[in-house]
Amino acid sequence: MPPHPVTSPTLPCAAVTPDCACPFRLDHELALITGGGSGIGLAMARCFAGAGARVVLAGRREDRLREAAAGIGSRAGYVAHDVTRLPEAPALVEKVKRQFGPITILVNNAGIHLKKPAVDTTEEEFLHVLTTHVLGAHALSRAVAPAMMQRGGGSLLFIASMASLFGIPQVVAYSAAKSAYVGMVRALATELSPHGIRVNALAPGWIETDMSRRAFENDPGRRRKILSRTPMGRLGTPAEVGFAAVFLCAPAAAFITGVVLPVDGGASIGF
Ligand code: NDP
Repeated sequence: MPPHPVTSPTLPCAAVTPDCACPFRLDHELALITGGGSGIGLAMARCFAGAGARVVLAGRREDRLREAAAGIGSRAGYVAHDVTRLPEAPALVEKVKRQFGPITILVNNAGIHLKKPAVDTTEEEFLHVLTTHVLGAHALSRAVAPAMMQRGGGSLLFIASMASLFGIPQVVAYSAAKSAYVGMVRALATELSPHGIRVNALAPGWIETDMSRRAFENDPGRRRKILSRTPMGRLGTPAEVGFAAVFLCAPAAAFITGVVLPVDGGASIGF
């Protein structure tokens, strides 16, 4: 698969000029999306495929991945993978390359939630959340970056959270993990952008998925509080995150790196 020209730091590219017909498309891209079998990950995969990319969904539940990929169609494949198995990251990247081709976009989306008072959160629970989000994302980013550097282009996208931006009670481990993404995105952007690799994050607000449904369970006050500080007065849909992900990985965002873009109906600026 030829590298997308816009990702080369040395090539001034027609794709980024206003006469380009397709700055919002992802033709010729191959995106590995962790947690792609459900929720936001699946919606991003659908949006990517709709924009012309091929997508590979990764997650632990193979049956779910199979079903999700089949629903997307011929542009989608899947590979079972547990992101907490850090030493297996290079093998995953190799496997994807053998089966589908070189990865040009990595979306670090796999995540778990832990809603619990800080004083009751154990070290083991804390570590598991950090391993899933932070170390898992680092292991995969480290595994895909060298080939992207060789090709002179690529895109890493992290799925952060409102918990990256402000204080939320009962999610101490999750907040630590998602806040770490912000630092990782900045550090990786400074290291990798000179090689044509853009590194960005989306910070979704509260989005209707299994994860948020579980977080709201038996807690109507939390949902009310969220809606009251969200100027758009509603939760977001997974597809609304998916379209923003397409933008950040597309030629239209060719000069954007190191940012954390809220997709939150205004929740992060609401009063
Ligand atoms: P889901 O629970 O639907 O998705 C989480 C996905 O992560 C699942 O597909 C799951 O697949 C995968 N996953 C979890 N642990 C692992 C693991 N160890 N290895 C591989 N895959 C794993 O929730 P969302 O779609 O809501 O969450 C997606 C991301 O968006 C998360 O990072 C979440 O923190 C973030 N987010 C969500 C918000 C929301 O309101 N919903 C708001 C802000 C951020 P499987 O179980 O098969 O492994």
